[in-house]
Amino acid sequence: MASVKKAAKATEQYLHRIFTIPEAPDSTLGRIEKEISENLAGFLGDRIVATNNALTDIENDFCDATLPEEPEFVSDHMHHLLDKLVSQSVHTSSPSFIGHMTSALPYFILSLTKLMVGLNQNLVKVETSKAFTPLERQVLGMMHNLVYQEQESFYQQWMHSANHSLGAFCSGGTVANITALWVARNNLLKADGSFKGVAREGLFNAFKHYGYDGLAILVSARGHYSLKKSADLLGIGQENVIEIPTDEFNKIDCQKLLVKCRELTEKNIKILSIVGVAGTTETGNIDPLDKLADIAQQYQCNFHVDAAWGGATLLSNKYRPLLKGIERADSVTIDAHKQMYVPMGAGLIVFKDPTAVSAIEHHAEYIIRKGAKDLGSHTLEGSRPGMAMLVYSCLHIISRPGYEMLFNQGIEKANYFADLIDQHSDFELITRPELCLLTYRYVPESVQKILKTGTSLQQAKINVLLDKLTKIIQKRQRENGKSFVSRTKIEAARYDGAKTLVFRVVLANPLTSREILVDILQEQCELAKESISLLPEFNEYI
Ligand SMILES: *Cc1c(COP(=O)(O)O)cnc(C)c1O
Repeated sequence: MASVKKAAKATEQYLHRIFTIPEAPDSTLGRIEKEISENLAGFLGDRIVATNNALTDIENDFCDATLPEEPEFVSDHMHHLLDKLVSQSVHTSSPSFIGHMTSALPYFILSLTKLMVGLNQNLVKVETSKAFTPLERQVLGMMHNLVYQEQESFYQQWMHSANHSLGAFCSGGTVANITALWVARNNLLKADGSFKGVAREGLFNAFKHYGYDGLAILVSARGHYSLKKSADLLGIGQENVIEIPTDEFNKIDCQKLLVKCRELTEKNIKILSIVGVAGTTETGNIDPLDKLADIAQQYQCNFHVDAAWGGATLLSNKYRPLLKGIERADSVTIDAHKQMYVPMGAGLIVFKDPTAVSAIEHHAEYIIRKGAKDLGSHTLEGSRPGMAMLVYSCLHIISRPGYEMLFNQGIEKANYFADLIDQHSDFELITRPELCLLTYRYVPESVQKILKTGTSLQQAKINVLLDKLTKIIQKRQRENGKSFVSRTKIEAARYDGAKTLVFRVVLANPLTSREILVDILQEQCELAKESISLLPEFNEYI
């Protein structure tokens, strides 16, 4: 009995300690903190070691559902984390990890994040985020300015107005896109006469009142899957996200879009929104936004631009013209955690019209009261962290010209890599980079010749084999753990739109050198030669 009491007392003291006394500098946690703050890259390079463990093996380390019944010392726990979690993590900040939109972060982010987490402000309401609320409104103003370039007086008028919002922060592009379409839906099906609006009465009554037989969202075939999620959540239905084919440059075909608009209108289906993509996730291309704005105007519908990945390009004066027309969008999605070197959890949307958000306004008596400046009255999410601080700091520390330099270099590097692929006799460039993203595949020279001259049946047969080869090479490269490119399946213009498996490269890390790119291609070449022997069907072509 006495020992039980003694243990309880020890636990109580320990719990008090974890809230009051930091770990000593010579403890495991203290040493890790020092290592991370002095040399994060070295730390990650040293500690991420088991890169080729299979996922199912890793699952064996995380299959115990028992709730811990005894407190664990932080240091003991750190050893456990390093051993099981860190060592088997993905080295996304490695300069040879060029497969995804997640990459390296500048050093100062670490300290800033610690400060942000330490402050633990909740941006849903002013009562838990005084200072952070005005800061977030300012950052939204800056991002709004990046897109819409309004006069200074516009920002003075709207930035801190309680009943208006220039935009909203959220966890990412998905929630930003949902928010955009939510606002669009509620503004389209707004209160009118005795009808109290879709927000209060639901879609069924809204359709009855307005006399529509359905709603549609139009986007190119390269649109992001989050639009389907949005349609699902908003009661519009995934099948009513209509994919318009793209041209050979992966941009929406405006002629086909117009035909579809006419067809839908004749069927009494109201177009809720035309969504332009500025930087498609798979190929990095930008839709003709100006033309889309014209069509949206013609059909009097909402125009949203999903610039989750590509939007940050507006910071580059050199490449800003590629996104011309974006300033005519009703709303724009931008992910700061993609190209702006902010850690994950930093998505945002900006609205052309600061009154647009009144369509989704919500209140509660204990917080976000009417007329108060709480950000939570105009956001989908409730409790939210102060990620705006990181965007704010990055904008100041890196600055617009700094971002421009990083983006311009990334795009130049992508073009260099595309040239390497073009010049290599055994590779085939599938999509040329418009920004810093490109796709390609390995095709032995002899096979390329057959593809050029062969019948479409032969082509199809070979492409099936090449898909298998691409998949094997990509998996092996990932398992080797030296470098990483991703893969996706896209309709390739040069094969009459046949779905083709390709390598996908995103050049976001400023430390990815040209030498690294040469090495990555070389490694793929070697892996390809080994892998072809695993596919005896290739024998008749090489
Ligand atoms: C990444 C991306 C999204 C989704 O963003 P998340 O931050 O992953 O939710 C939406 N649209 C495009 C074009 C994207 O690239």
